[in-house]
Amino acid sequence: MKLIEGASIAEIVYRECLASLAELKETGHQPGLAVVLVGDDPASKAYVGAKDRKSRELGLHSVKIEKPASISQEELLAVIDQLNADPAIHGILVQMPLPRHLSSDEVIRRIDPAKDVDGLHPVNLGKLVMGDPSGFVPCTPAGCQRMLIESGIETAGKHVVIVGRSLLVGKSLALLMANKGNGGDATVTIAHSRTVDLAAITRTADILVGAVGIPHYLGRDHVREGAVVIDVGINRIVDASAKKGTRLVGDVDFDAVSERCAAITPVPGGVGKMTIAMLMANTVRACRQRAKI
Ligand code: NAD
Repeated sequence: MKLIEGASIAEIVYRECLASLAELKETGHQPGLAVVLVGDDPASKAYVGAKDRKSRELGLHSVKIEKPASISQEELLAVIDQLNADPAIHGILVQMPLPRHLSSDEVIRRIDPAKDVDGLHPVNLGKLVMGDPSGFVPCTPAGCQRMLIESGIETAGKHVVIVGRSLLVGKSLALLMANKGNGGDATVTIAHSRTVDLAAITRTADILVGAVGIPHYLGRDHVREGAVVIDVGINRIVDASAKKGTRLVGDVDFDAVSERCAAITPVPGGVGKMTIAMLMANTVRACRQRAKI
């Protein structure tokens, strides 16, 4: 069984970003990323902190905007308008989920598609549907595909079963892998909460992707011998033996599945590492596109 480690593949993406940053610097450009956090959800805070740290470490101009959960829709839209108009900012990411009184849909639609490095604006999703590479692809699906490419795993003609149909992960990854090109050309099945006899479907997968949000949901019986397994899930569970009393696990029961599969991504240290790397890559590309380099 091969372990597909996110950290080492993310390093390849960061090396590309650094080369691009050096080239941009020569012509007086510096990519800028603004990350907007509303409220004080601990997981969202941790994600935003990690994105901000990585931006700075790479040499991006990083802006972290924190707003209270009580912010109104109009006030939040005004923050987006300001970032859209700011020439130092090339990428805008609003950390989801937003508090319930806010419309994330309206907020995403307000972001300038050229700065939508999270790839969730209808213009970018439309380009994904059309297979137009000028758009931004959501970071987690882009990261999953890059992991497969860098690990030398063939996707053309393979059956990919994705469990989960969210726009952020499952549905976007399905489009990406069904599109033509490197890391694509797959035959894709999307399974979800209404799928009947899930295990019978997942067992036909050459590549199985778990994006459900239920700890250890996919077990031994869901996986065909020799399959490749990509675990997108990040779930915190109680574990008395862990230092903090909790630990992170994926949607896949790693111990049970790793005995059967040909390759698998760990949690933590798998897809999560790639999500941040692809955000950096998208921001650098947004800057290049604006600078027309
Ligand atoms: P979501 O809640 O939006 O979507 C979950 C999907 O799972 C839904 O489409 C639903 O139909 C499906 N589902 C729910 N119950 C099911 C069941 N019993 N059987 C089959 N399908 C079922 O979640 P999401 O945003 O897509 O995230 C999924 C997981 O990935 C979560 O654990 C999340 O934390 C994680 N995630 C990780 C990263 C990363 O960087 N690694 C990024 C985003 C999300």
